[in-house]
Amino acid sequence: MRVHKIAAIPADGIGPEVIAAGLEVLEALASHDGGFKLEVENFPWSSEYYLEHGHYIPEGGLEKLKTFDAIFFGAVGSQQVPDHVSLWGLRLPIAQGFDQYANIRPARVLPGVNSPLKGGEDIDWVIVRENSEGEYAGHGGRAHKGLPIEVGTETAVFTRAGVERIHRFAFELAQKRPAKHLTLVTKSNAQRFGMVMWDEIFYEVAADYPDVKVDRELVDAVTTRMVLKPKTLDVVVATNLHADILSDLAAALSGSLGIGPTANLNPDRRFPSMFEPIHGSAFDITGKGVANPVATFWTAAMMLEHLGEDAAARRLMQAVEAVTADKIHTPDLGGKATTADVTRAVCDFIRAST
Ligand code: ATP
Ligand code: MG
Repeated sequence: MRVHKIAAIPADGIGPEVIAAGLEVLEALASHDGGFKLEVENFPWSSEYYLEHGHYIPEGGLEKLKTFDAIFFGAVGSQQVPDHVSLWGLRLPIAQGFDQYANIRPARVLPGVNSPLKGGEDIDWVIVRENSEGEYAGHGGRAHKGLPIEVGTETAVFTRAGVERIHRFAFELAQKRPAKHLTLVTKSNAQRFGMVMWDEIFYEVAADYPDVKVDRELVDAVTTRMVLKPKTLDVVVATNLHADILSDLAAALSGSLGIGPTANLNPDRRFPSMFEPIHGSAFDITGKGVANPVATFWTAAMMLEHLGEDAAARRLMQAVEAVTADKIHTPDLGGKATTADVTRAVCDFIRAST
């Protein structure tokens, strides 16, 4: 029996609702498969925990997390804590501490789901987001607070090693897809240092992948291309900030923010990788039982793949697609189903599958 140790961190808002749903389908898959088992430990780290203890991650917390095979993460963000405090308190220390430099965000319109875009069926993208440096490196400062000469700087930090490894990762991924097409997204017309370095290193790495078609787009221009010519994109590689914005757009264009999954990978597998839905805490629907669990299910499928459980991952996506095709949709997709309805339907499909 293959055993995988999963650290579940549901955290804030709808996080606990969608992670509970995700664990339920994972459990159904494991018992159906019979070849593997998940040992899940729940961690209560959240904004509520922070308000009580003064920190999100207790001392020794990251050391403890290191002993797991994967981290299954909900959402962080609370109306009681400034967003930059909660993000830097919980999610970024894990992503950066475990060198999860490759953030992978596929976007596709699932069967039965309507894209707000005419021609949305053509969306089949993977956005590769640099996840360890760049605009979110945490460099910058404030001076002369409150005075007219007050300054705030936010310095994007790019290193050759950091840029080269994300490009290489994106090329490897693009090479495995049918279209074998990688689009580089930067803003190297207006930003002439780090962004130009991004472009240069991209073409250096490209020389090692002659079978991958490449092109280049400025970040502003690529938003219009995503909307007007979705078919012309396949894999996109971009910086931490740019890809963050593009992947919200990609999720919305593929039907809802409640659908998009994320893998934060530590590709060399020295540390555990972290899997989370793209969406945030969604205060407006928290506790109502209507959060769309599909993003979390798709995320769980990516986690299974990472753990080497490819058959279970495929079975899960088949179940999810059967359920979306059946129009068992939560309100964000225009339906009336609850989180529990969708979860039950997915579990039923898994149990009935051969
Ligand atoms: P963050 O800052 O953490 O990225 P956010 O401010 O971008 O969060 P979200 O919490 O992701 O915002 O929510 C944005 C909108 O999308 C909200 O109206 C929310 O209800 C909706 N939404 C997000 N996730 C889901 C989901 N799983 N199911 C249904 N609706 C969702
Ligand atoms: Mg967001």
